[in-house]
Amino acid sequence: MMNVLLYSAAMQLPALDMPVFQPGWVWLAGAGPGDPGLLTLHAVNALNQADIVIYDALVGEAILRCARPTAILEYAGKRGGKPSPKQRDISERLVDLARQGKRVLRLKGGDPFVFGRGAEEALSLRDSGIPFRIIPGISAGIGGLAYAGIPLTHRDTNSCVTFLTGHNASGDVPDSLDWAAMVRASPVLVIYMAMKHLDILTAKLRHAGLSGDRPAALVQDATLPQMRVLTSTLDRICADAQAAGMTPPALLVVGEVVDLQAAFGRSDLQATLSTSCQAAS
Ligand code: SAH
Repeated sequence: MMNVLLYSAAMQLPALDMPVFQPGWVWLAGAGPGDPGLLTLHAVNALNQADIVIYDALVGEAILRCARPTAILEYAGKRGGKPSPKQRDISERLVDLARQGKRVLRLKGGDPFVFGRGAEEALSLRDSGIPFRIIPGISAGIGGLAYAGIPLTHRDTNSCVTFLTGHNASGDVPDSLDWAAMVRASPVLVIYMAMKHLDILTAKLRHAGLSGDRPAALVQDATLPQMRVLTSTLDRICADAQAAGMTPPALLVVGEVVDLQAAFGRSDLQATLSTSCQAAS
């Protein structure tokens, strides 16, 4: 199955006049939320040419198998409860490899500039004089929710969406946010890294003025075959998540759009998954 994916990518890309990965460059790319079918053509082009791929925890094996066979795959994320490498070490590694004349692909889950520390790495490359390219990816909060059958907008419910993170740099719920203003201004909230402090997050939203029966959903492993979608309300979602054994990575969505999920048949959503995920497994 992998060969089919590589073969069709290799057939398509030259006709599109895709960029050549020059030695000594770093390409900072998003791999999308998990389903390899959501890689961009630029990301596949990068995987086809990179000498080394430095990847994060959210980049799965099916995607890494798209790298060319001789590429070195180097993990730079948190695993098995071990501390994650320091951001500075990762940035220094990218600089070192580029200076050795490697074609370095820095591959991150989703989009590199959405809660992905891509900006820090890009600034460090710039400061070190390393040429780089940014390749956007489909962020989990957009593509992942679509796979779960949760539209981010609907004209009847919201003309605005807010993305936020459940962790700040020290791993705590961000305290610099004006929660009350945010809740007043945005009818739909999409919260990344929501699991660790789910109780605090939901309490903050209640305290900021949201009603307890506001529709809420958790989407775990979005776009992957094991994706799980839990729909509930703001008051109940913590207990429901615990009862259902929901685990990271997951997104929390709060707002009326969650109710639209029920309008889509299971079979519609399953069809989305089976066409793109199974092809790569
Ligand atoms: N740059 C990434 C986000 C990195 S922060 C992006 O644009 O998607 C990591 C958080 O992203 C996770 O804690 C989770 O909240 C969310 N996430 C990433 N991939 C996910 C997936 N497949 N399913 C559910 N949530 C996901």
